[in-house]
Parts: sequence; C-alpha cells; structure tokens
Amino acid sequence: MPKYDVVIIGSGLGGLLCGTILSKEGKSVCILEKHHQFGGNLQTFKRDGKIFDTGFHYVGGLNEGQNLHQYFKYFGLTDKLKLERLDLNSFDKIGFNGKEYSFAQGFDHFVETLANDFPSEKNALIEYKNKIKEVCNHFPLYNLKPAQDISSEQKYLEQSIGSFLNSITSNKTLQNVLAGNNLLYAGTPDKSSLAMHALIANSFIDGGAYRFVDGSSQLTDQLVNIIEQNGGVLKKNSEVIHFSFENDKIQSIQLKNGEQIEGSQFISAIHPYSTLQMIDSSVIRKSYRERINELEETISSFILFVSLKPNSFKYLKTNYYHHNNDTVWTASNYNAEKWPQNYMFLTPPFSNSNDFADSAIVLTYMKYEEVKQWENLKSGNRGAEYEEFKKLKAEKLIEQVELNHLGFKKSIHKYYTSSPLTYRDYTGTRDGSMYGIVHDCNHFLKTTILAKTKIPNLLFSGQNINLHGALGVTVSSVMTCSEILGMGYLIQKMNHA
Ligand SMILES: Cc1cc2nc3c(=O)[nH]c(=O)nc-3n(C[C@H](O)[C@H](O)[C@H](O)COP(=O)(O)OP(=O)(O)OC[C@H]3O[C@@H](n4cnc5c(N)ncnc54)[C@H](O)[C@@H]3O)c2cc1C
Repeated sequence: MPKYDVVIIGSGLGGLLCGTILSKEGKSVCILEKHHQFGGNLQTFKRDGKIFDTGFHYVGGLNEGQNLHQYFKYFGLTDKLKLERLDLNSFDKIGFNGKEYSFAQGFDHFVETLANDFPSEKNALIEYKNKIKEVCNHFPLYNLKPAQDISSEQKYLEQSIGSFLNSITSNKTLQNVLAGNNLLYAGTPDKSSLAMHALIANSFIDGGAYRFVDGSSQLTDQLVNIIEQNGGVLKKNSEVIHFSFENDKIQSIQLKNGEQIEGSQFISAIHPYSTLQMIDSSVIRKSYRERINELEETISSFILFVSLKPNSFKYLKTNYYHHNNDTVWTASNYNAEKWPQNYMFLTPPFSNSNDFADSAIVLTYMKYEEVKQWENLKSGNRGAEYEEFKKLKAEKLIEQVELNHLGFKKSIHKYYTSSPLTYRDYTGTRDGSMYGIVHDCNHFLKTTILAKTKIPNLLFSGQNINLHGALGVTVSSVMTCSEILGMGYLIQKMNHA
C-alpha cells in the first residue's frame, strides 16, 4: 500500500487546486473522488448534443495582472483555457422594477454607466467604488500577499452589505440594483458581509468577467493533466467512508470499495459536516461537531438547461438577473407561492457557434423542503409526481423568461431540469446547497471554518473554508496548502510565476 505525502478527499476545484499546488511543490498526492467524473461543480454534462455546465457560468479576476490571473499563471493554466470576455459595457444586466441596468467592466466605466440611470446618485456610486476598493485592499491573499491573521479584514467581514448600501444612499432602487446579482452569493442583506459582496463584485468589475468556451470542465481536464504530470494520482469512483486513527493522528482512510489509502497528511475538500461524519466520536470534541452540524446552508437551486433550435435565439454576451419582486434579496425573502421571484439567464459560448446561441441556462432559487418528499428515492426513479412537479416549475420559469426575452419559448428544442436533489446527489452538498455554509457577519467567528483542524494531520479546504466560487476556492486552497508549505514561501513562488 503506497503512502502518500498528502491524501485529498474530493476532486472539486478545491481538491484539484490543492493537488496542483502540492504536487508542483514536490509532494506525492492522491486525490479521491466518489463520482465517475472529476470536478465537482466543474462537471459538465451533454444532452441533445450540447454541453451544459453545472456550477461555473462565469469567472472574474482573469484580466492580466489581476489576482486570479496571477494564481492561474502559477498553476500553469493561463495559456490553456478557452475563455470569452463578456460585454465590456454590460457583463451583467439587472432587471428590476420594469427597467434594466447594466454593470460595465472597469470601475470608472461601471460608475459612469450607472450614473446615467441615477444622475443624482453619482456621489453614492463613487463612494461605492471607493469602499469596494478599500475592502479588497485589506485582504492580503486577494492581493497575493501573505496573511498573518484576520485583523485587517475583520471589520469588513462583520459589516452587513445591507447596512453598507443603506449608508451610501437612501435610494432603494439603486441599493437593489447594486445588489442585483446577489444570487452569486445567495445574499441576505443583514447576514452577508460587505467583504463577501466586495470581493465578488470587484473580481468581475475590475478583474474582468469571462465565460468558459465549450464548458468549464476544461479547467478540470487541465488541472488533472498538471497533477498527473507532477506524479500525482487521481482516483474516480473512490468514495471515502472512514478515517482510521493511530493515537491522535489519521493513519489511513477507507474507501467504500474496501481499499485503504495511507498518508502523512490529509486534506478534506468536501463539506466539513460530511468529513466529521466519517470520524469516530471519541476523536472530535462534541462541541466542535455540534457547531459544524448546526451551521446553516445556503439555499439550493432549480435550473433549466435548454437546448435551442438552430439559428433561432441570439447569443447574448451578457448575463441577466431578473427580479419580479420589490427587493432583489430573494434568498431571505423566499416565497414558494410567488416562485420564481428572480432568475439568472445566460447563453453559454461554444467555439463552433455563430451569432446564435446553442443553449441557454436559467437558474433560480429553490428550497430543499420543496423536494424533500422525494429525498429517499434514487435519481431517475423518483416517480411521476416528481417529474410533474419539475415540469410545472420548468413551464413557469419559461413563461417568466419569455416576458423578458421575447421569442425564447418558441426557440426551445428540448429542456432538462435539475432540482436541489440533483445537486445534493452530484456534488455531495448538504440539501443541495449552492455555495456551502452561510457566513453570517453577525456571528462571523462561529460561521468561519479554519483550514487547520484539531486533528494534527487533517486540514480542510474548498468553498466552506473561505469563500465559494473560482476566486474564493482558489484562496482557500492557498490557505490550506500554506499550512503544509509555509505561507511566505508559497506566496513568493506564486508572485514569481
Ligand atoms: C448552480 C451553481 C452555479 C455556480 N456558478 C458559479 C459561477 O458562475 N462562478 C463561480 O466562480 N462559481 C460558481 N459557483 C460556485 C462554485 O461552483 C463552487 O464554489 C465551487 O465549485 C466549489 O468547489 P469545491 O471544491 O469546494 O466543492 P465541490 O465542487 O462541491 O467538490 C466537492 C467534490 O467532493 C466529492 N466528494 C464528496 N464527498 C466525497 C467523499 N466522501 N469521497 C470522495 N469524494 C467526495 C464530490 O463528488 C465533489 O466532486 C456556482 C455553484 C452552483 C451550485
């Protein structure tokens, strides 16, 4: 039985990036994935000849000189990805109160564009820009600088985005518009921090907003290649079910197929709750286990994957966030009776497409409770009632899209849907949660999980540790690997890539 320097559980972006960093730095790594595909949320699937993304529709921070660009340079990814930059004048469009508002790329352009819609609010927009910049400057790892502690970031993690928006303007429409793409973090105005909003907003506005051409699984393929070239081992169909200890340290992990994998260090890049389920009760303090178990999960989603008829619906270089509410904060004002209260709409890019879109994705929130009655039935066998439920939801959503994008309905060739159960089953998140645990700015320490655990040779990584999303998970991986390689050393290597 080979003994690896580091055994990594989960091959989502978090697990793959930890594997990339550690194998580049000379460690022998083994990544274990329970599914038949690597990538977690980076997985794509094919229906009706079209490739569909499951959990990566666009990424920020990839302009030359920006944070994710530099991290990707170190990983060896920059020249290997097929990307398309979204519309410079309008990467996101927010539909609110019967009007559409554009988010432009580049902060000055962003301010000028919104100032055309809100001429008397230009000062508020400048204040918004300055604060977002200030916040981002206080997060060392977002600027590829070593982080010692959280003292410089804490006040921004403890202020709510709702209170910040209130402080810069009393114009409720502008407040809603500025938060109009909060589906990106399942925002709650009094719980989501100013920091979360700022790091995400800035990554797109100043960092550059890009889509993956031909699907996001290209990122998985490239990372798998890099890890293998560095001598790393990746195993599919390898569900980890138990950790075995010798004294207080993990000695090996056991797979569902009976295999045992030994390692010196272990990184769990899956949900911390699922990790603790695999560790016997005597090893972990009850209070720690309870704290993790009680953490709230972000809301789940219902997604429509649409295959479009050829040459029927124009390709859109903009993502649309439409709101049918008097507030854009739908995650905390969810009302099943009024569903869908909001939705995101986009047309993914393909290298062989022309001016017309091949497919479209419509994403909206859905609470797990709505599908709970089918939770014990296996995917594909959940019965006619479940299928009917999904069909009715899909039809409602299509009607909504048609209101804002005339001609969409008649362009549909076929459609497919996912529910919270799909995400629970395919990415192993609790209740199909979109972005893992809720980081509550009012209980910032209680809802923050550190990479370092009480077990000396176990680290956490992935979206639950820092932030979710491409940039958030990249920073999580750096935090985790720094515990093994040293923060100063790693950041220096990354800056000189
Ligand atoms: C609908 C949706 C849309 C999104 N859109 C965007 C976007 O446009 N841009 C963006 O940047 N981010 C987006 N995100 C967020 C982003 O996808 C995630 O934050 C990120 O992919 C999380 O990576 P991860 O490695 O932490 O977890 P995951 O991707 O969930 O990976 C965890 C992996 O661990 C595996 N696993 C679980 N349990 C075990 C076990 N016991 N043994 C072995 N393997 C196991 C799972 O199968 C999975 O492969 C979106 C997310 C969702 C859900």
